[in-house]
Amino acid sequence: MTYDDDNIFARILRGEIPNDTVAQNDHALAFRDIRPQAPVHILVIPKGRYVSYDDFAANASDAEILGFNRLVAEVVRAEGIGLAEGGAGFRAITNAGAHGVQEVPHFHLHLLGGQPMGRMVS
Ligand code: 5GP
Repeated sequence: MTYDDDNIFARILRGEIPNDTVAQNDHALAFRDIRPQAPVHILVIPKGRYVSYDDFAANASDAEILGFNRLVAEVVRAEGIGLAEGGAGFRAITNAGAHGVQEVPHFHLHLLGGQPMGRMVS
């Protein structure tokens, strides 16, 4: 599994491509998806070079994993979709590889909400 430094999200992290940033910390960046599939559609990415969720989960440091997850919590709270704040909820998904139909080979978590998302797995 090799990381492509020219993938779109690597270029966003380097500031070469503009993005609609929602929040960030030392380890992760959250920005709005360019083709939103729901009223809230935010991508959360680690700032480190990880291709996929399994790569991130296996190889990121504790600080990176904590920073990433804390940013997810911050974004969910700020968007008003988190259950802890009485929000209506959200869907968090990540696509990995060919069978996951992953388009951008830099690990990202999709946060979708603002409407009922429909049943995905019965
Ligand atoms: P994947 O299929 O890899 O899980 O999802 C990639 C996501 O990245 C898609 O939802 C797509 O709309 C989004 N995307 C692709 N290029 C860009 C871009 O340049 N900027 C932003 N903000 N999102 C992008």
